[in-house]
Amino acid sequence: MTQLLEIIANTNKTALLVLQEFTEAQLQSWPLAAANYKSLERVKMKQFQFDGFQIKVQFNPERMKSSVANVDKDTIAARMCFLCNENRPPEQDAIAFRDQYLILVNPFPIFSYHFTISSNTHVDQRFLPHVGTLLDLAATMEGFTVFYNGPECGASAPDHLHFQAGENGFMPIGKDLERLKLTSRPLYAGKHTQVWAVDHYLRKMISIETNSVNEGLEVIGMYYRHFQPIQPEKVEPMMNALCSFTDGKWTIHLFPRKAHRPTQFYATGGEQILISPGSVDFGGVFILPRKEDFEKITKEDIVDILDQVTLNQDTFLYLTEKIKTDLKNWR
Ligand SMILES: [Zn+2]
Repeated sequence: MTQLLEIIANTNKTALLVLQEFTEAQLQSWPLAAANYKSLERVKMKQFQFDGFQIKVQFNPERMKSSVANVDKDTIAARMCFLCNENRPPEQDAIAFRDQYLILVNPFPIFSYHFTISSNTHVDQRFLPHVGTLLDLAATMEGFTVFYNGPECGASAPDHLHFQAGENGFMPIGKDLERLKLTSRPLYAGKHTQVWAVDHYLRKMISIETNSVNEGLEVIGMYYRHFQPIQPEKVEPMMNALCSFTDGKWTIHLFPRKAHRPTQFYATGGEQILISPGSVDFGGVFILPRKEDFEKITKEDIVDILDQVTLNQDTFLYLTEKIKTDLKNWR
């Protein structure tokens, strides 16, 4: 198996180019992926304007399976794991990332370049033990945003460790941050690292900018340590995370959550909206697999859906004040 880092070293190409070429090659040899990337070109998008930022909505019927996936323990235990190497489609090639991961073209794309970075072994989806890989991947895959969906926060394989990645610029959050910084609560500003708490973005978010991998991981550790006791019944605190790397600096967004799916998901008839929010939705692109939902969804629905799945303001304030106290005594 070829290593991404070796291809980059041997060809002098950027990761962006290597991975774009990898995708093009897969589209030549894998009809299902070719058809799905082709239909992505015709996918419908619309956008809603909020106070200083936008939320986009994508109608994407190929995501139906992922959106409605039953991820309870029994269903997961009974199904064949689609990320295990022996069950993957024979047409799906891979590029290795270090010893534990394979970079795969996601055959049900949201992005023009959409990858799943899957563990070689069937181990549970968990954030803290593997978050170093999130930062490592983002730094290696410059040009892409790498993301993590928690086992109850959008991961359709909660029992098989994986990340995903898509090209920068697709999710509105990429350009929202600069403006959000001006009106957010600063939690820390140091030589290498800055941390903000964002309260007024429909979802709650902790954003970290750092040029130090160790400092980034330490801040994430503080967040996790204070968040875990808030949801002691969960296998891990409910969250999504986005990470990108530009000009020697990581940008990490952490989205603490309180629910897997909104009430609209379980409603019937005209009340139903099939949405299962994950990192991409939190990044500002709602993925709707049904045309009727795409057509009827309103600004108010978006506010309500994000509110239902996001940590409450009081809890978020408590969590971020804890982190701020840690950061006051840090370094
Ligand atoms: Zn598996």
